[in-house]
Amino acid sequence: MIKVSKFGGSSLANAKQFEKVKDIVSSDPSRKFIVNSACGRDQGHKHKVTDLLYLSYAHIKYGVPYDIVFENIENVYEKIKNDLGLKLDLKKEFDAIKKNMEDGKGEDYLVSRGEYLAGLLLSEYLGAQFIDAENIIKFDYEGNVDFDKTKEAFDKVYSKEKITVIPGFYGQMPNGNIKVMSRGGSDVTGSIIARLVNADEYENWTDVSGLLVADPKIIDNPQSIEQISYSELRALSYMGANVLHEETVYPIKDQKIPIHIMNTNDKTAKGTMIVSDDTAKDSTRELTGISGKKGFTIFNIKKTHWATDSTYLRKVLKVFQNYKITIENMAISLDDINVVVYASNVEKDFFNIMNELKDTDLEDINVVNDIAYVMLVGKNMKSKRGLLGRVGTALGKDDISVRTVNQGADELSILIGIENKDFEKAIKVLYKEFFK
Ligand code: ASP
Repeated sequence: MIKVSKFGGSSLANAKQFEKVKDIVSSDPSRKFIVNSACGRDQGHKHKVTDLLYLSYAHIKYGVPYDIVFENIENVYEKIKNDLGLKLDLKKEFDAIKKNMEDGKGEDYLVSRGEYLAGLLLSEYLGAQFIDAENIIKFDYEGNVDFDKTKEAFDKVYSKEKITVIPGFYGQMPNGNIKVMSRGGSDVTGSIIARLVNADEYENWTDVSGLLVADPKIIDNPQSIEQISYSELRALSYMGANVLHEETVYPIKDQKIPIHIMNTNDKTAKGTMIVSDDTAKDSTRELTGISGKKGFTIFNIKKTHWATDSTYLRKVLKVFQNYKITIENMAISLDDINVVVYASNVEKDFFNIMNELKDTDLEDINVVNDIAYVMLVGKNMKSKRGLLGRVGTALGKDDISVRTVNQGADELSILIGIENKDFEKAIKVLYKEFFK
């Protein structure tokens, strides 16, 4: 049995958290690969190391002294080192970083040092071997992971004897430069390592006991999700639920490696299992979760029986493509096409888009602002009857008007468009209907 265990920033915020990590790692011999984030915030230091590193770089870029910000970072690592009685020569490490910055190494190099240094400390503390992500995670020129090169590089440096610590969040470009992933990217590194070693499980240790069925900022104490499929997770995350980086599932999808979200501060909690769609157990629950977002705009384009012109839909979509606007969803009917986008994405080009849309020979156009979407997700919806009716009735009883409805033939999710002002109320009503 091989497990890859990724520990997030809050699990590495101070020496106490490092102790919890060691306790977790040593309690299960299958935890052979450890991927780490940079140190997160705690009472002693209010900012994440990664944020401070970005801030340091902004100082360097504009020629403002960065010593004070950088000293904060040095203090975080020095304190952990001293509290744990470790030997790592941090002065040498920090001097090398400063020298490299003077020599013009870029932002990504500097920002990656958060994970790098945390990984060095953690590997010493665990008595593990350290593999620098720079030597194994290889990107192509587009910045995507090159899995073949990554595997080749990994096989060269990996030795089986010991637990291995690998810093998350960065890798190397073909020209040798370090590149960081998007924020939260250590989740993706963990997933890449799980793929490389064909892990039985990818554990993702964080500071919550798994995924919740709804946003705890809206619902008091929502139920937790014991198991969720890759596709359900994707749908919930797309609409706002964020525990994992959205690209985490991709590297391990084909191997169907399960991801287990666990809580470093409560290791006995069950957490959430994220499993491939075909291995997800059946549950009696109709829904797996509810999420949602505000701030959409709908372009409601009217043209009588538009579908008789087989090129018409393409013409409409081309306008959005011209301005590189991602379409979030669409609802179509006999005489109209509703294109839904994030309001903030069309602000800049709004008038140009309107003009080009008018040129498509439409009859009328209506722009509906301040729209929110609530997404009900659950693979079990497929076998249930009358669910949509219950959604409409529950919302209607609370005087919430439904503006659009989308449901695909796979019946994995139902997307309901409502007004921004009704968003929180709608989540509460639907939570009560399906989870209470
Ligand atoms: N340290 C990086 C961040 O804060 C990456 C990570 O934690 O996954 O985004």
